[in-house]
Amino acid sequence: MNDAAPPRDAADGPDAPIRRPIRPREGATPVMAQFLDLQAQHPDHLLFFRMGDFYELFFEDAALAAEALGIALTKRGKHGDEDIPMCGVPIHNAERYLHELIRKGFRVAVAEQLEDPAEAKKRGSKAVVERGVVRLVTPGTLSEDALLERDRHNFLCAIARRGRDLGLAWADMSTGALATQFCPAAALEPTLARLRPAEAVLAAPEDAEIAAAARAHGAAVSELAPSSFRPKRGAARTAELFGVADLDAFGAFDPAEAGALGALIDYLELTQRGRLPRLNPPRREAAEDTLRVDGATRRNLELVRGPDGARAGSLLATIDRTATAGGARLLEAQLSAPLTDPTAIEARLDAVTWFSARGGLRETTRARLRSAPDLERALSRLGLGRGGPRDLANLRDGLAAAQEIAGWIAADIGEGGAILAEATPLDGPAPALISAAADAAQGPDALAELRSTLGAALTDEPPLRLTDGDAFRPGYADALDEARSLRDRAREVIAGLQSRYQDEAGVAALKVKHNNVLGYFIETPATHAQRMMSAPLDQTFRHRQTTANAVRFTTLELTELEAKITRAGDHALALQREIFDALAEQALAAHGPVSAAAAALAQIDVFASHAELAEAERWARPRIDGGRAFRVDEGRHPVVEAALRREGGPPFVPNSCDLSADPTAADEEPSQPIWLVTGPNMAGKSTYLRQNALIAVLAQMGSFVPARAAHLGVVDQLFSRVGAADDLARGRSTFMVEMVETAAILNQSGPRSLVILDEIGRGTATYDGLSIAWATLEHLADVNACRGLFATHYHELTALAAARPTLRNVTVAVREWKGDVIFLREIQPGAADRSYGVQVAKLAGMPRAVTERAQTLLEQLESGEDGPAARAARLVEDLPLFAQAARSDRPDGAPDEAAAGAPALERLAGLDPDAMTPRDALEALYDLKALLHEDG
Ligand code: ATP
Repeated sequence: MNDAAPPRDAADGPDAPIRRPIRPREGATPVMAQFLDLQAQHPDHLLFFRMGDFYELFFEDAALAAEALGIALTKRGKHGDEDIPMCGVPIHNAERYLHELIRKGFRVAVAEQLEDPAEAKKRGSKAVVERGVVRLVTPGTLSEDALLERDRHNFLCAIARRGRDLGLAWADMSTGALATQFCPAAALEPTLARLRPAEAVLAAPEDAEIAAAARAHGAAVSELAPSSFRPKRGAARTAELFGVADLDAFGAFDPAEAGALGALIDYLELTQRGRLPRLNPPRREAAEDTLRVDGATRRNLELVRGPDGARAGSLLATIDRTATAGGARLLEAQLSAPLTDPTAIEARLDAVTWFSARGGLRETTRARLRSAPDLERALSRLGLGRGGPRDLANLRDGLAAAQEIAGWIAADIGEGGAILAEATPLDGPAPALISAAADAAQGPDALAELRSTLGAALTDEPPLRLTDGDAFRPGYADALDEARSLRDRAREVIAGLQSRYQDEAGVAALKVKHNNVLGYFIETPATHAQRMMSAPLDQTFRHRQTTANAVRFTTLELTELEAKITRAGDHALALQREIFDALAEQALAAHGPVSAAAAALAQIDVFASHAELAEAERWARPRIDGGRAFRVDEGRHPVVEAALRREGGPPFVPNSCDLSADPTAADEEPSQPIWLVTGPNMAGKSTYLRQNALIAVLAQMGSFVPARAAHLGVVDQLFSRVGAADDLARGRSTFMVEMVETAAILNQSGPRSLVILDEIGRGTATYDGLSIAWATLEHLADVNACRGLFATHYHELTALAAARPTLRNVTVAVREWKGDVIFLREIQPGAADRSYGVQVAKLAGMPRAVTERAQTLLEQLESGEDGPAARAARLVEDLPLFAQAARSDRPDGAPDEAAAGAPALERLAGLDPDAMTPRDALEALYDLKALLHEDG
């Protein structure tokens, strides 16, 4: 095996199959034959093979897992002549290892023992315990808390192709969310960028283009037979799953969406081995209902991930004031998919306004939410048969919180209910919460009954697993009480035995103890051994074990009592399991209303979070309509502002913006929907551009915005690009990336789009770049007719803007002071005539010799009548001979820093320090300084 090819190498990619030779079963031990059979059925998965308290891995799987997990690779017997490599992970922390393997791109098949080893023994001493794969663990099918991020959805997404169009269906198995979208090919990238699925399921053989897009957004790609994607079959499977006659019951799905739904359900069934997770009925989303934002724009604006790919530093992290995990997940989902329907947006804003006007109620609600458990995930674990008593308690506590909060809201004013009911056309949860509360108040319904049953049944803090302790209250079930009291009484009797035995044996140090190996036993110090083991005591006390300092005994009575305790304990556990199963079933029967209440809590949490943020940061409610206004009064960049505050920097300077495309009667000037922003480096151009894009995103997700006031006509597509962003991973040069992205914007944006272009065209020669930027700006203004901000260092472009009424020149103000530049951060009308690059380089700590030389060159390049190329040629001709010689001397041909000080160097070379007096040396030093000064 050691000389065999490695099972996988880096070039295979993370989700490539594992290479394993076909091993004959002949000559294998029965267990190994069982292992080989199961392994052969799961060629793409590492096989976790349950043996007692461990999952063992063998052969190539062992080598891969040992390396990926950093655990020891050992051997276990031989297969033919071959040693069998092995490694194992203990059951009790298998989740941690699973997480690591999934994170590293593996999939795992978990084979469990399907019978009690005692059963197998009955078939003969050599009989093998029956084992079977109970679950495939893949990135998109995780349900355990330990494997999931608390505040993020984990989506599995099936993609079906029909001609040029696509259907997407995605589910989060850990929460039950299920949705679909019909997707023209051009909308695939933005949709994947929004969902960021952990895993994509495609028809085999995979469609290279779709697979590449899915992988580019971090998804593992899995395949299913094309028959799984057939629309008719998908519609029928979905209808059957939800017990409706026809899929139309949930909306008018496109055949491609139905196909994707069918494949999604097939894949879940395949990985869960027939035990399907509980899912909410599919919700149909339309691409045009949400703001289209492609992946590059999301990254560029750092919406949900900061500059280094983590949540910290993102817009999401800055605005998140949610109190629950469900709220945090919903916040991310809503930020990733801002709405486009002004009525829906206004409805959300109404709810935020309502909460922001009620500081007291908001605080009480948030405090109550903070102690509410994650209802959605508890319900999903129960649905998968992986739940425990703690999950039932989570339902009890979560539903209590939902009822209480709904009660407060309903009690406040009728208006509250009305606003919340309207606020969620796409999500639908808030009315569910209100009606749940109303139902609860009116009489027994599914939830009220469930709540009271759980309240009566469960102890205050039940254990995670049934085997860990008592989960149910005394008095809830008579049979359980009886079994428990039998068990506990017997325990008490045993405790009482100790003093009786002490008297009988006359040994005061005698103790009754318990351990896992011996069970109950009697222990005396070794000094009493002789006496205990002779008549008459040996009649009662039977010797069991001698240790270094003690002797251990048992009695008939103790053995009988122990058997009774075990029986009663087993019986109590079996009864607990029965009760648990019945309660879990009751909870799952109320799946619909429970998940509606969970979704309602999440939505309430998000509204309260927006309100909290708006109050704390003095954000304003934006005005949203279907027009083409874009007026922001004193806007701020929320992330930069927060960072400046955190670092104790200067206060953020607010700036206004008006890209309104439809002039109103009140406007005195014609509309100028595209602004050209010029100004020095570091002045704040990028910040200004992005803050306006972020304000559009925030407003359309239903949040207040960091501004004094804002009036926006909904944006349907948002593009944000920075020139010169490398994409080396995809093998494209800086300039190529820039051009591909600019092309996409010019081809796709329209009158409702907002386009942010930051220094487009800077990745090439000056005049090429300028020409491209110029033509792009003209096209955006004349053909795309979008609203936009265009930042550039090509000051020549400002002439174009000055000549066109729909373009406007603005600049970021700076003040010059003693050759340095002071940033004022204010956007003002007008154009900048220079970039102050040299001053900024000075601020950045460039060597003084370089910045001074650069300043000289700049002045010379900028002077004279002829063009910069001719001026540069003249400059080179004017270089002193010595400097040219010095340059050509350099082996790498690089320009020599010392060239600027050539005469000084010449003088230095002529000095003979040994022949100089101190005074000569001092004079020479003055000379040198003077020469340098003349030269600079
Ligand atoms: P370059 O042309 O070099 O890309 P720029 O003009 O785009 O620069 P930014 O990156 O937007 O400049 O801003 C530079 C820094 O200035 C920011 O990191 C921030 O700290 C600060 N800054 C920007 N805008 C403001 C503002 N309105 N108020 C306060 N500080 C600001």
